[in-house]
Amino acid sequence: MKREGKQPIYEKREGTPVPEVIVEDIPELRMAMGYISNGDAKEIIDQEAFEIASLAFHRSDARNEIVEQLRRNKPHVGDPEQYIEKVFSILENISQVSVAPDSSWEKRAEILRPRVEALLSYFNPSSDWYHIRKVVALPVDDFVNVQGGRSFQRGSDWIVASHSQNPDNFDHEFLHSFMNQIVDHLASAIGQEKITQLVTMASGKLKEDYGEECPHSIFTEELIRTYNDYVKQKRNPQNVPQQFMEKIDTITQKQFQDALNDDERFVQNLKKLNINNFNEFKERAKEYFDKYEKDELRDILFDLYKNYEETRKRGDIEDFESFLIQNIVNN
Ligand SMILES: [Zn+2]
Repeated sequence: MKREGKQPIYEKREGTPVPEVIVEDIPELRMAMGYISNGDAKEIIDQEAFEIASLAFHRSDARNEIVEQLRRNKPHVGDPEQYIEKVFSILENISQVSVAPDSSWEKRAEILRPRVEALLSYFNPSSDWYHIRKVVALPVDDFVNVQGGRSFQRGSDWIVASHSQNPDNFDHEFLHSFMNQIVDHLASAIGQEKITQLVTMASGKLKEDYGEECPHSIFTEELIRTYNDYVKQKRNPQNVPQQFMEKIDTITQKQFQDALNDDERFVQNLKKLNINNFNEFKERAKEYFDKYEKDELRDILFDLYKNYEETRKRGDIEDFESFLIQNIVNN
């Protein structure tokens, strides 16, 4: 999906600032990522918490904010002040940051800037609460795999750690810069219970990944993925069940065996359904699909996005947040 160079579809809301987009090394964060990727880091408890804490290293101006983020999002690491000190003591002992990013990264900002503009135009978050002024793409190809990424806030910076070969993942991580807050606002408007109820319709896979005790995260993730993997790419998720079943028909014994070797999650899920071999999998593919892949929430959100586009075109609404709050409860 190429978006580069295209004009945003919609006019931006008056006054919503477009952040600066730059590629920049943040040594403390890359030190943390390097340390984790070297393995054997049991004392850090939680990889993401460790990375968040690293953002306060030699940055006393950011310390309060980082403590607050840990308190709110990472309660399991214990006292955030103590945790930060522990992380600092590890970072103090790392003398060398890994190799500096190569020059190809310099061109990245030019590729990423129009993507940021297009996403902001589409969602149009209000400047009343959206205060990101700088999007920092971290050169981290050594430390993140092509599929996965992470993002962080420090002050008015949104820091994205995503592989250079996967700009769609960059979009995903950038979308978190406002979607997290949109879901906060939604929860205040319609009640946490309604969110919890909607999330029961998400796929078994997603619920397992995020834990059903975190409906907020599941809902945010689902909003982002539905847009980024389907709406933006002009794919219809409502075709997924049929495509899955068609794929089952063409799958070979060898492909099945490869999946068993490479995909721990797949193996676990087969076990839970007591599926023991290729033939049983083929026979019971529909059951597998319904339990782990079927995603009714995604279908609902897809329709919602389509309605948003129509309503926005008519000029009846100017931003996604308002539309979501007004329309999600009808589902
Ligand atoms: Zn995400």
